[in-house]
Amino acid sequence: MAEQKKYLYGPVPSRRLGRSLGVDIIPFKTCTLDCIYCQLGGTTEKTVERKEYVPLKEVLAELRGRVAEGLEADFITIGGSGEPTLHAGLGRLIEGIKRLTDIPVAVLTNGTLLCRADVRADCAGADVVLPSLDGGDEETFKRINCPHEGVSLRQLIDGLCAFRKGFAGQIWLEVFLIEGYNTDNGQIGKFREAIERIRPDKTHLNTAVRPTAKAGVESVSFEKLLSIAEQLGPRCEVVAEFASNYCAETGDNKAETVFSMLKRRPCSLEDIHSGLGIDRLEALKILDHFTHQGVVSSERRDGTVFFKAK
Ligand code: SF4
Repeated sequence: MAEQKKYLYGPVPSRRLGRSLGVDIIPFKTCTLDCIYCQLGGTTEKTVERKEYVPLKEVLAELRGRVAEGLEADFITIGGSGEPTLHAGLGRLIEGIKRLTDIPVAVLTNGTLLCRADVRADCAGADVVLPSLDGGDEETFKRINCPHEGVSLRQLIDGLCAFRKGFAGQIWLEVFLIEGYNTDNGQIGKFREAIERIRPDKTHLNTAVRPTAKAGVESVSFEKLLSIAEQLGPRCEVVAEFASNYCAETGDNKAETVFSMLKRRPCSLEDIHSGLGIDRLEALKILDHFTHQGVVSSERRDGTVFFKAK
């Protein structure tokens, strides 16, 4: 297998962002939260400390190489395997990306640090910021997101409101719904109030369709998601499964591309086939190879087998 890219992965198909080149600037599962639905497993380093977790020079050098090769993507998405606003150089990274390419920059964040002025200033250079809001009240927020002790729902919502006031780009809020946790009328009413205050450009409803960090995270039916979307207003939509048949530029390094994708989220055989444009049989061979090497494991959810890098 060719040498693994250290900080970049993809482009991978994203339900919300189309073809998205991922930029991963935080060590695996270093986060302000420990969400029960996290696709990456439990948080290993729960922190609110901002610092230079990885050298930006190296990240930008890797990106410069990809741009020179003729990178095609709908977004360059800063996110990956931890909370990206923990990186103290986020603002400089966005400036650096903007100097290299016109491809729009998205920041995938849980939003918990936007209560800080330095984080808001760092995110200001992005084109789209995609924060999360999963609980209508502090208790539900704690049950679902298991935050660091220095993080509260009030701070999260206040931070999002403050960011909205000064941010010229798009805010696409994600609400992750879990049956039995945040789907009753009381919660939906509180979400509506919070959304009215935050004024995101869009609200995306999501639910558990992949293996999650904790057991017992039940997905919400599509019909129910549609009904909740209606209650949350005209700018709210259900983010449907990615259905396009775009082919990523896998080049000669298909195995590397597959492994890169599995490191960031669990995928089914179908995801790999339709998302990366890799023939099913070939994808199966690659998965079989990784499984025998012991670097990929599989898990069944709702009748579908998902593969995940260990
Ligand atoms: S889902 Fe995102 S915010 Fe939640 S624990 Fe995982 S990486 Fe952190």
